[in-house]
Amino acid sequence: MSQIETKEFQTEIRQLLDIVINSLYTDREIFLRELVSNAADASEKLRYIQLTGQEIQDKDLPLEIRITPDENAFTLTIADSGMGMTKDDLIENLGTIAHSGSKAFVQRLAEAGDNKDVNLIGQFGVGFYSAFMVADKVALTTRSYQPEALGYRWESDGRGDYSISEEEDLPRGTHITLYLKEDAHDFAKADTVKRIIKQYSSFVPYPVFVNDEKINTVQALWTKNKNEVSEEEYTEFYKYVANAFDEPLLKMHFSSDAPININTLLFVPSSNMEKFGFGRMDTGINLYCKKVLIQEKAKDILPEWLRFVRGVIDSEELPLNISRETMQDSALVAKLNKVVTSRFLKFLDEQAKNEPEKFKTFWSEFSIFLKEGAANDFTHRQEIMKLLRYESSKTGEGELISLGDYVSRMKEGQELIYFINGPTREIIEKGPYLEVFKDKDYEVIYTYEGIDDYVFDMIREYEGKRLISADQEDLKLVDTDNAEGDKLISEEELNEFSVWLKEVLGAKVTEVRESKRLVDSPAIILSHYGTHSMQRMMQMMNRDL
Ligand code: ADP
Ligand code: MG
Repeated sequence: MSQIETKEFQTEIRQLLDIVINSLYTDREIFLRELVSNAADASEKLRYIQLTGQEIQDKDLPLEIRITPDENAFTLTIADSGMGMTKDDLIENLGTIAHSGSKAFVQRLAEAGDNKDVNLIGQFGVGFYSAFMVADKVALTTRSYQPEALGYRWESDGRGDYSISEEEDLPRGTHITLYLKEDAHDFAKADTVKRIIKQYSSFVPYPVFVNDEKINTVQALWTKNKNEVSEEEYTEFYKYVANAFDEPLLKMHFSSDAPININTLLFVPSSNMEKFGFGRMDTGINLYCKKVLIQEKAKDILPEWLRFVRGVIDSEELPLNISRETMQDSALVAKLNKVVTSRFLKFLDEQAKNEPEKFKTFWSEFSIFLKEGAANDFTHRQEIMKLLRYESSKTGEGELISLGDYVSRMKEGQELIYFINGPTREIIEKGPYLEVFKDKDYEVIYTYEGIDDYVFDMIREYEGKRLISADQEDLKLVDTDNAEGDKLISEEELNEFSVWLKEVLGAKVTEVRESKRLVDSPAIILSHYGTHSMQRMMQMMNRDL
């Protein structure tokens, strides 16, 4: 017998385990999905290693997942013949959290009080620990695919530390035994386990057996014909690839042979996870070549700003041994990126036309990503700009128009696209900036977010029309012809008044002068600096005047 080493979990994991063990759950059966998904990941990785021609342990062992509930012992085992783990892997993968997003997730859970959404555990790279929802002890044996690797046993009761020891004569892969808690004995029943596997893991691309009965039908949905796939299958597949529980908001299933061979199935989730403060999302595209997973969460296959999209891109033309480094400067990847992104943007545009309500929901959740793209992604800017939506002085509250709508209803003689930034519709409409536009019956786009000004600054124009902030000083809007006759005070008086006001306001303004754009208000603050957030000005006025 070899020595047993005991090690402490990293602080964040201790914190997480504490939550997992002590929370009340509605959906704790998800633990099974997490463990099966890990088994599938490990199998995918092994298949990839096989294809790159490396030497592997037990090379004839078939890739499959075997689940064995034991109603007498109240245990449940999940075994795979995937890549397995070395001792270092064990310590690194099951003892520490490296990813900052996962740490942030644990932090949020810890602060969430009674309302802990432990369901999200799989999406934050800590799914393994969900085993402790149902088990008071987890024992795992594993042997890496590497020919010289030894086997190990890992055990923990989830209360602060774990042990590792050597174990002889293990086959390649990982074998996890859960010692079920008393209130979780139901998971030792074959029927329960079969039901859960069918529900959550029907798309695992390897055979899943429960007590030697095969439960899933292995299929690569994205290579099928659209009319052979039901909505239900799409939804289940989304849940599988995105590790998600929600229904997808949108789905795009697209195949083409030219200019490049592609089978792709993309989903937009029902909500924007970044909104909840979990930090920046990981990209969510798995890259396949003829149904073989080449890279999970592939980084360069879609632009950064599409990181909210989940799904699969499969292309026959991808080399199997493409590495992260070659991904970055591969012309093929760049081409795939362009084709899929353009196709996806076209799909969104069609959605906007054919399913406006759905698109509106999409916009309210994900507009921030499109704005990021419009500002930063020069390649796709033209296509993204078509999708931008705003309220305006001529829409009702909550009613949105595109820049195209705006341009199509510009007044005769109007050359520019006007916008004004403010925290709310009400505040914008109370200010003096719109007066001159109302007077001329010009439409003004309302922008409510700081990023909008930045986006408009970057895109500069739409259909050849400059975008210009309504609070910029160089607006040449007013007909000065008949202004002369209406003068109520002399030039001299006006000068004296301006000098006096400048003295009173001092350094708060750079200049005071006559305005020709006002209709009802006595004064207006304008900016030299191009676009200017009205909110800041309102604050300044409240504080200083
Ligand atoms: P994630 O799967 O998102 O990485 P998990 O908490 O589910 O997060 O698993 C953590 C890590 O543990 C995995 O990334 C993997 O390296 C390792 N692991 C878990 N289960 C297995 C398994 N059955 N075979 C090999 N490695 C595994
Ligand atoms: Mg996992």
